[in-house]
Formats: sequence, structure tokens, C-alpha cells
Amino acid sequence: MPHVITQACCGDASCVYACPVNCIHPTPDEPDFGISEMLYIDPSTCVDCGACVSACPVGAIVPGHRLPEEAARFADVNAGHYPDPAPTETRFPVRTDWRLPMAPIVKPAALGGATPDELRIAIVGSGPSAMYAADELLKHRQVRVTVYERLPEPFGLVRFGVAPDHLSTKTVTDLFNEIARHPNIQILLNTEIGRDVSLDELRSAHHAVLWAGGAPTDRPLQIPGVDREGVQSATSVVGWYNGHPDFAYAAPDLSAERAVVIGNGNVALDVARIFTADTDRLAPTTIDPTALAALRASNLREVVVVARRGPEHAAFTLPELIGLADGPARVWVDPAELSGVDATNIDDPTVAAKVNLLREISQRSKPAEPFIRLSFGLTPVEILGDGHASGVRFVKTGGDEESVIDAGLVLTAIGYRGRPVPGLPFDDEKGTVANVAGRVVENGEAIPGLYVTGWIKRGPTGFIGTNKTDSGETVANLLADAEAGALPRPGTAPVPA
Ligand SMILES: Cc1cc2nc3c(=O)[nH]c(=O)nc-3n(C[C@H](O)[C@H](O)[C@H](O)COP(=O)(O)OP(=O)(O)OC[C@H]3O[C@@H](n4cnc5c(N)ncnc54)[C@H](O)[C@@H]3O)c2cc1C
Repeated sequence: MPHVITQACCGDASCVYACPVNCIHPTPDEPDFGISEMLYIDPSTCVDCGACVSACPVGAIVPGHRLPEEAARFADVNAGHYPDPAPTETRFPVRTDWRLPMAPIVKPAALGGATPDELRIAIVGSGPSAMYAADELLKHRQVRVTVYERLPEPFGLVRFGVAPDHLSTKTVTDLFNEIARHPNIQILLNTEIGRDVSLDELRSAHHAVLWAGGAPTDRPLQIPGVDREGVQSATSVVGWYNGHPDFAYAAPDLSAERAVVIGNGNVALDVARIFTADTDRLAPTTIDPTALAALRASNLREVVVVARRGPEHAAFTLPELIGLADGPARVWVDPAELSGVDATNIDDPTVAAKVNLLREISQRSKPAEPFIRLSFGLTPVEILGDGHASGVRFVKTGGDEESVIDAGLVLTAIGYRGRPVPGLPFDDEKGTVANVAGRVVENGEAIPGLYVTGWIKRGPTGFIGTNKTDSGETVANLLADAEAGALPRPGTAPVPA
């Protein structure tokens, strides 16, 4: 029985490179890589060798015969990506070109003569994009990497964003710790660039600075009443239950019986799942103990996750919905929410599978409290209340019918956005540092020695592993510039305007 990729897939494509028969897609050079919700194993070409299992940093790949019951659906999800099995004669096309691109050799001459044996690179941030970039850089013996991280613990959103019950996903930190053990890297924690060390100071001490600071701001919901007590961002709640020092103050008020989460991406599902989880199941996870204690005393009976658009436009991914539907969470959809939506008219198989699964959930009996209700097609227009939130007024999207959902806690989860970085040009439209393929640019010209990667380079999209390909591109350009002698020598970097 072939191997199967399951919910924790982080998309870093290590499995693609490990697979000797090219049975895992999309590959990084295929157009849908980066927008695909996960990677998929073609059961008709998988030779069951298990090379992908060892390569996967998050334990997401399982031999088909050992799929746990709650992941059984993933066998169909993988196979469904390959509706036409490969013809027998083209099976097992052993590829020899699926190797990571050869690392370019950085010649000592490229280092400008000042420090011929070393290429000193500063990386700002220690999230996935930083660690994947460090891994690429450290393949070159002349490179010395210093990672500067403002928080007391490394690894960015893997530590402080990924939900505490997604333990398999968190195991990617084993890979990052392995990278951090390389003799040519040091990680300086509690060091914020722009506060403890200036960008100019950093530039003068290194040949290049690679900014990997993420996109830490949530997009604000702009409707009347958002400043009422009892309204806060899902970002702050995620930080709170993960013990992020910036969000220790952000304990949500769990005294009400109902919470509304506005937005239905994976982060909205994470928060709803944690709020309704059996706290005994949460205890052995990485949840912050203060948050666990607060959740044990919570009065919440229902968390309503509300989307502006219909089920066929749901922002959550299919793997997350499967995790919710088949795992320990209690989730429900009112069948009326799905009237008029017909999966057979939907071309995209992933979207059709989401709609089918939502219908299946809607046919289950209403679960015991506390549970999650998924709701669709409602545009929020006002947070109601007298000082403290008491509910949300919605209008039917594309119509004028109004409704109110009573709730004493309202969370906004409508996406993330990058913040301008002092000293670096900012693309306000995209919410990213202005760059071309990772080279920071101003007025169309690359600024020597400044690079960017991860969410602050491409915007807040993709999974942990998406940052591997992204950082690979930036590092390839940085090394090409080093080889061309285009990096400023430490101490000579031009001070940005
Ligand atoms: C709530 C949430 C849950 C997620 N869950 C999953 C999941 O389950 N699976 C999955 O595959 N993906 C998940 N993702 C996506 C994944 O976390 C991102 O793709 C990834 O973390 C982006 O990496 P990054 O390095 O660009 O940014 P980040 O992970 O945000 O890392 C940026 C780092 O830079 C540091 N920093 C910022 N500014 C400075 C400064 N001035 N000086 C020093 N340090 C600085 C920050 O403290 C941080 O540590 C989730 C995202 C969120 C928001």
C-alpha cells in the first residue's frame, strides 16, 4: 500500500527531493507549488520505499496500512489529486534530476579582500524563513551566520503561532535545532534589530543582512464597535495561549457562553478548536499553563466561526477541515448554510471535497457543548454592546437581510500584514519590504548587501515549508552577488536614506 501525506504537511518539499520515483507533487518548479494546500503522493507510482518518511520534518507521511482512523480520509485526498493513474509503462520513472540544485561555490575573491576566509551574514529573525536560509548558507564553508531574534525563544511562529495541539507540526523544530547546532551559526536571543542594535550597525559588521522578521500585524476589521471590551484579534489570543511575551496581557474574557470569530482561515479554526477542546487533552500539549488554567474555567459553550463568503470560498484548507471533522473536535454546520451549494458543479476537486465534507458534517447530529459552528455568507457591520461586546450585527453578503449573533467575546481573524521596517523600503500595497526575488530594491535598484525572505518578502501566505523554497531563492541571489563581488565589505555599507 502506498504512502500517504496527512494533515501536518508543511510543504517544504524535502519529500519531493527524497522520492526516487517522482511521485510527490506539486514539485517546487510546478506552477501550483506555493498555492497548493498540501503535497500529494500519487498512489499509482509510489513504490512504498519510505524515503519520504525520513525526509519529512513534521512526520506528516504515513504508510497507507498504518494510517490512523482520524487520518483515513487522506488516502483519498492524495489519490484524488491524480484522477488519471499513470500508464503502466511510465510508472516508476526513476528521476536523477530531483536533487537539490548544486550549491554554488563562493570564491574567496568575492569577499572583497578584507576577510578572505569569511562571508559574514546577519539574519534578522529566527522563524522558518530564517532557519531555512541559514541552512542553505551554511552549506558554504566560508559563511558565518549570526541570527538576531527579539524574543527569548527562537523559531518564530512555529513556537508562538502554530497551535499547541499541532504537535506533529511543531516537530519541525528538531530540524531547526539541527541547523542551529552547525558550528558556523550563532543565535542571539533577546536582541531586537532597530532597538538593541541598529540596522546600520548590523550592516557595518556583516557582508549582507537578510531580513526575515515575518509579518506580525493582523489586518484590522474596520466596523463600528471594534474598540469595545471583549473584542480582540485572534493574533493576540494565539500569542496568549502560546505564551508569547508580547501577549501576556491579552487573556480573553471567557465568561460569556458564546464567542464569534470573524474570518474562517486556518487561524480562526485553530482558535475555535483550542477554545472548545477538552482541557485534559490540551494539558500534555505545548499550551501555556496560564492559558490552560483559564480555559479550564471557561464558560464558553459555542464558538461561531463566521465567513463573509459561501462554503465554496472557505479560506480554511481541506487538511485542517479534515482534522476538525475526524479528530476530537466537536464541529457542526447548520444544513441551511449549504442550501444552493452543489459540489458537483465545482471544478476544483479540493473545493468540492471541502463542500462535501461540510455537507457530511451538517448531516451529523448537533454535537455536545462546547462546540464549533461554521457559518457562511455573513458580512459583519457592527459590534453591538454597551461598553462590552454583546453581539455582532451581520448583513447577508450580497443581500440586505440583517441578523444578530449574541456573543460576549468577538475575535477578528481576517489575515496578517507586514509592518514597515525602519531603514528598508516598504511596498505598502503588498505589505512587504520592496524586493525583487529577495534583493531589497529602492527605485528599481537593488541596495547592495540587503536581502529579505519569508512572510515579509512575499506576504503572509503559505506554510512553514513554503519558506524553504522562498529562502532558497533569496540565498541563491545573495551568493550570486557575493560571487560577483557585489557585496559591500563590512564597514563600508552605504547608510540607507
Ligand atoms: C497563528 C498561525 C498558525 C500557523 N500554523 C501553521 C501550521 O500549523 N502549519 C504550517 O505549515 N504553517 C502555519 N503557519 C504559517 C507559518 O507559521 C509561516 O509560514 C511562517 O512562520 C513564516 O515564517 P517567517 O520566518 O517569515 O516569519 P515568523 O515565523 O513570523 O518569524 C519571524 C521572526 O522574526 C523575529 N523578528 C521580527 N522583527 C525582529 C527584529 N526587529 N529583530 C529581531 N527579530 C525580529 C520575530 O520575533 C520572529 O521570531 C501559521 C501561521 C500563523 C500566523
